[in-house]
Amino acid sequence: QAKGSDKGTWQRYRPELHTEMVQRLETRAALYEAIDDDQLRVMYQPIVDLPTGAIVAVEALVRWQHPTRGLLGPYHFIEVAEESGAIVPIGGWVLREALGQLAAWKAAEPEMTLRYVSVNVSARQFRTPGFVDQVRQAITEAGAKPEWLLLEITESLLLRDADQVANDLHTLRALGVRIAIDDFGTGYSSLSYLRQMPVDVLKVDKSFIDDILGSEQQRALVDAIVTLARNLDLAVVAEGIEDAGQRAALVEMDCPYGQGYHFSKPVWPDEIPPLAHDAQTLVASPARG
Ligand code: C2E
Ligand code: MG
Ligand code: MG
Ligand code: MG
Repeated sequence: QAKGSDKGTWQRYRPELHTEMVQRLETRAALYEAIDDDQLRVMYQPIVDLPTGAIVAVEALVRWQHPTRGLLGPYHFIEVAEESGAIVPIGGWVLREALGQLAAWKAAEPEMTLRYVSVNVSARQFRTPGFVDQVRQAITEAGAKPEWLLLEITESLLLRDADQVANDLHTLRALGVRIAIDDFGTGYSSLSYLRQMPVDVLKVDKSFIDDILGSEQQRALVDAIVTLARNLDLAVVAEGIEDAGQRAALVEMDCPYGQGYHFSKPVWPDEIPPLAHDAQTLVASPARG
């Protein structure tokens, strides 16, 4: 414990801060090892057609099978990966893995209803020179089609070097790859970018869905986003749907797609094919009336 008698001169020693710093440094070093040692995994969360509950796509979500700390979610390492640059090889790996997985599912199960896999791309990864070529190559190597891929970017990517970003997005779009804005509504966006940028899908952030039943204002906001998207010819995915009430409210607004624990948590790859058949619905819609 640091000496605290002269007021203001000493920072009180806080062991939890020290622990956090040490853990960050360890994480940073171990992350590169994780890539080389095959410790990364991908889980897949179903994206459903809201009215029917049928699965139409999956989102790839990275996990780290840490040798001593167990299975870690992105919260434990994505920030460090961003700072250190490890997010670039990690993101590249997730992209190849997810496309390969979708190709494998489709080959094994021709009746599969999955239309695409959604892959998160960090701003740093997107801005790495050669990113578009990396995407093109990943699609070819997986034996996939560009239409099978949706890239999730965040609003903040669109703020800086907008011309360069727009160029790359147009190149991807020309290939047939589609683009979603993840966590839509949480950024600083002026909305005007929706006119300039080739965007296909808005993913409405969970924070808007959380209180959709409790707050008239939240509900009005989501309704406005859904209407905006429809008028701009964009698809909408509502994120973080946790109960039947939220789902019903979204169906009422004609929100076409959704994702959330109400339908399924992220699951391992072998759990997806049994869910992804025409007749299958994750959670059937309650009778309306
Ligand atoms: P995201 O892209 O917005 O993904 C949705 C997150 O919300 C996932 O968390 C998912 O498990 C969680 N989620 C989905 N439905 C529900 C629900 O009903 N309730 C609750 N409480 N949570 C729900 P996860 O897997 O922990 O990922 C967190 C974030 O990490 C992602 O947010 C994404 O920003 C980032 N991330 C994940 N994988 C990758 C990746 O491969 N590359 C990059 N750059 N970022 C990734
Ligand atoms: Mg996402
Ligand atoms: Mg999101
Ligand atoms: Mg989110």
